[in-house]
Amino acid sequence: MRWMFFVFVMCGQMAFAGEGAIRAGVAKVSITPEGSMWLNGYAARNEPSRGVLHDIWAKALALEDGKGGRVVIVTMDLLGLSYEIVEQVARQADSLYGIRREQLVLNSSHTHAAPMVWPCLDVIYDLGPEDQRKVSLYGQELAAKLVKLIGSALQALAPATLYTGRGSAEFAINRREKLFGPGPIDHDVPVLKVAGADGKIAAILFGYACHNTTLVETNFLVSGDYAGFAQLALEQIYPGAQAMFLMGCAGDQNPSPRGTEELARTHGQALADAVQKVLSGEMRAVRGAVHTAYTKAELSFKPFDVNIYQREIVSDNKFLQRRAKLMLDAYNRGWQPGRLGYPVQAVRFGRDLTILALSDEVTVEYALRAKREFAGENLFVAGYSNEVMCYIPSERILKEGGYEGEESMIYYGFPGPFAAGVEDRVFDAIRSVMKKVRAH
Ligand SMILES: [Zn+2]
Repeated sequence: MRWMFFVFVMCGQMAFAGEGAIRAGVAKVSITPEGSMWLNGYAARNEPSRGVLHDIWAKALALEDGKGGRVVIVTMDLLGLSYEIVEQVARQADSLYGIRREQLVLNSSHTHAAPMVWPCLDVIYDLGPEDQRKVSLYGQELAAKLVKLIGSALQALAPATLYTGRGSAEFAINRREKLFGPGPIDHDVPVLKVAGADGKIAAILFGYACHNTTLVETNFLVSGDYAGFAQLALEQIYPGAQAMFLMGCAGDQNPSPRGTEELARTHGQALADAVQKVLSGEMRAVRGAVHTAYTKAELSFKPFDVNIYQREIVSDNKFLQRRAKLMLDAYNRGWQPGRLGYPVQAVRFGRDLTILALSDEVTVEYALRAKREFAGENLFVAGYSNEVMCYIPSERILKEGGYEGEESMIYYGFPGPFAAGVEDRVFDAIRSVMKKVRAH
């Protein structure tokens, strides 16, 4: 009996240790601010946070295919990262751990109940020197924590098996419908299960395309909103598992109804229920090598017109004034902001799963079109990846205007709406990264 048991164990280990076997590592770190801080996202807020509803987290999942293919996916309960912090973290992850830019995905849940990460959305608040110092310090501490977190996940790498499935949750609506009539939605809940060698769930990566804004501008407590509650619920159901929320293309999607803590819990539970249903059903194994690709689309704004900002600087609207000051300061130094480098990234696991990670507040039609164009792929489409510096409207929304097409650019401190052709430029970049990861 003892001999037979020994043989069984040896075979089991050989199956995991063989060439091409996947290894996974997880790690997490609290990013709850110490003391009171300005929370990001709502221009109507007039004071900093008053406490903590639940801790907020940065969580990392490192995956390695045994053939040199690697990726580290980091999810965070934050509104979004600034370009500066993304660059800093990516540079250090490369120099310390050899993680190349295309092997690092940073995704923000877009909770509006987390601290400002400077310099994102700085047009919406006029912070005094002490608050500015706190916000800058939080950003620097965050960057250091993220670098360390990536290292911890890589250090924890151990044999693992991956499975995917797809569920559905109903609470997202197209928030433009009041002004522009019914619009598209994407109720998909993609799920990636990571099981350890003992078969126990080590990580659950799950997505949804819906603004993480159940809590409104009257909320002054730190939390991860519905996505935070969903992660808490899953970690309670599956002790020892690290639940990680991957935000989808939620630019024009809102939770409905919204406005209270109770509703944030309800939506979080609905999402956790959808994930649990997928995990308890039949899931598809994910094997194969890990391939990654990263590029930047060059997006153009409408031509710079200094007359607009000369009018806006004397307007009654403080947000227009602040944006105009940014633009006139640049103009008076001889700069004319005109283009934005837009990161597009893909991670493919053999033929079994592809994660397409788009940056910024990308609207839902990008996910729907990507899933149509790459119908043969098991595609997870994430928005809010890497930096979150503005909205990325579909061509239809750009023509229609409104908040996601035009007005939000004021709050984000950009010169104005994008020039026509934004969607096609992003899709050229999408096709280029997809071609690269599918070439193997
Ligand atoms: Zn938003």
